[in-house]
Amino acid sequence: MTTSIALIRADGATARAHAEGRHAWWLYVEEILGHQRTPFFWCEPDGLTAATTTAVVSTTENLDHTAAERLHEWTEQGGTLLIVGAPGTLGERFGLDIVTTLGDSHVTFASNEIWTQRPPVALHALGGVGYRLESGTDSLGTWADGSVAIIRRSVGNGVLLALGPDLWQSVVRIQQGFPVHADGEPAQDGTAPIDDGLLKAEDGMALSLEDDRAIPPGEPELGDDYEHTYPPPSAVPVFHEPHADHWRSVLHQLLWESTASRGKVLPWLSYWPAGIPAIAHMSHDADINDVEDGLAALVAFAEADVKVTWCQVHPGGYGRDLHRAITLAGHENALHYNAMDDSDLATWGWPQMRAQYAWAQAVTGEEDIVSNKNHYTRWEGWTEFYSWCEQLGIKIDQSRGPSKQGTVGFPFGTAHVTFPMGDLDAGNRLMNVLNLPLHTQDLAWAGHVAVRDVVLEAALAHHGVAHFLYHGPHLRKRPLTRASCLEVAGLARERGMQWWTSREINSWERARRTVDVDVEQREGSWHVRARSGAHLTQAAILLPVPDGSVVEEFELDGRGSLDTVVRHGRQFLELAVDLEPGVLAWTVRIGASPAGR
Ligand SMILES: [Zn+2]
Repeated sequence: MTTSIALIRADGATARAHAEGRHAWWLYVEEILGHQRTPFFWCEPDGLTAATTTAVVSTTENLDHTAAERLHEWTEQGGTLLIVGAPGTLGERFGLDIVTTLGDSHVTFASNEIWTQRPPVALHALGGVGYRLESGTDSLGTWADGSVAIIRRSVGNGVLLALGPDLWQSVVRIQQGFPVHADGEPAQDGTAPIDDGLLKAEDGMALSLEDDRAIPPGEPELGDDYEHTYPPPSAVPVFHEPHADHWRSVLHQLLWESTASRGKVLPWLSYWPAGIPAIAHMSHDADINDVEDGLAALVAFAEADVKVTWCQVHPGGYGRDLHRAITLAGHENALHYNAMDDSDLATWGWPQMRAQYAWAQAVTGEEDIVSNKNHYTRWEGWTEFYSWCEQLGIKIDQSRGPSKQGTVGFPFGTAHVTFPMGDLDAGNRLMNVLNLPLHTQDLAWAGHVAVRDVVLEAALAHHGVAHFLYHGPHLRKRPLTRASCLEVAGLARERGMQWWTSREINSWERARRTVDVDVEQREGSWHVRARSGAHLTQAAILLPVPDGSVVEEFELDGRGSLDTVVRHGRQFLELAVDLEPGVLAWTVRIGASPAGR
């Protein structure tokens, strides 16, 4: 029997939400577990057996009393039940006392051994309920109003975990924001004047400019005389923590703990090849299309030894020679879709984007352009833009990022490449274009250089991508910006990060999404299996080390190698293997010894 998470079916709830014109946020559970390649299956409450250790109720809408009774019975018999959001009929059955309903608030995480990666700040949550703390119950987190956000309680032989915050809605809203139809509210301290009359991704931000930012470590508080000029006169508050990634990590930590405490091994597939903790990405936007700027950028990137994703912008173009030089230097040709109204094609719309895509193919000679970034991070509406990407063959988009000094860092809460949730007219399906977040534009010009390490460290802690954007004019004319480009290249490498283009990131993520891993525990051995639909060199299957154990020795049957790594603050065995289409299997024998021996 392999270890797999049971997701309780919610088809009725989804149909009802869509009939009422509401988003079915809980559908995003498949994307969060799918990105991590955590094994899961959908089932009805009746289908749960003692062979399953952990079940997740992603929504309780449409869960009737019979189902609640069955889930209670299964939990009493030894299962761990995780309820996300309002408990519905399960609230009555498990005796949960809701004291508050929240639309937009924050959750502070308690010190508890369950958290191997405890969020260091109060996490922004959208939607949820707060509970009353009762005896025999652990509080794992608290809402800003003092009510309990996360409850753990023994139920018979099993465990109830009630996560009051709507984790799914929080992740989607933080990553994708609200639909953009008007300017957003600027920051009160003047560091993020997003009310600039231009519609862009930040105008829909769900994170708060007032509550979710901090001055980078070691920098002085903002002076009263601060003005938003270039370069920044001082460091300003930035989005220093990726809130959506923390929510993902919270879910993973609960699932690992609930399975490991039962002696079960819940495997997953590392986000990157074996031994690589995170990735760095550099992009270049060809704004103005000045040949001297482009040449200066080519030289800087060669010195930095980084292959960049070079986003080509209409109108103009560099001319044939420079376009050829960019391609010959090994950089990726991408689109920099322009909707800034400076040419007859440069407006927001599908035909305009389609025309600019064809233009970029023509001037670069690159037929297969897979990546885009919107000039000035322009954005309108919610996910219609992603449907244009799907139609064009843009597989990965990098438009969601900062355009102001005070929005650098993680304004959309993530360092991970993920598929966005589509709008209601798409039935909330996942859109077939990866979101590659952007974290800062030109260091020492558009963003204070102090944000560099903030971005690198958070991307490293969450095992995502740190994305730095540069522009030729600043690489040519601003010595500090040019120096920052070379410095960040080296600093990322020192941290074990590799520089990948967006094409490489896209290919890797889509290949790993074809992989399913599982582990069967028999006679003291772990029988690991991977079914892959693609070739992946040095893929890394991660196996949680059982609770209360340290692994002192291990051996492997089958082609590959074993090591130990720490991911999300937890120790894992890392099985490094070359995958190919088909099924491969390995046997891992571990000699575990009790901790502290
Ligand atoms: Zn641009």
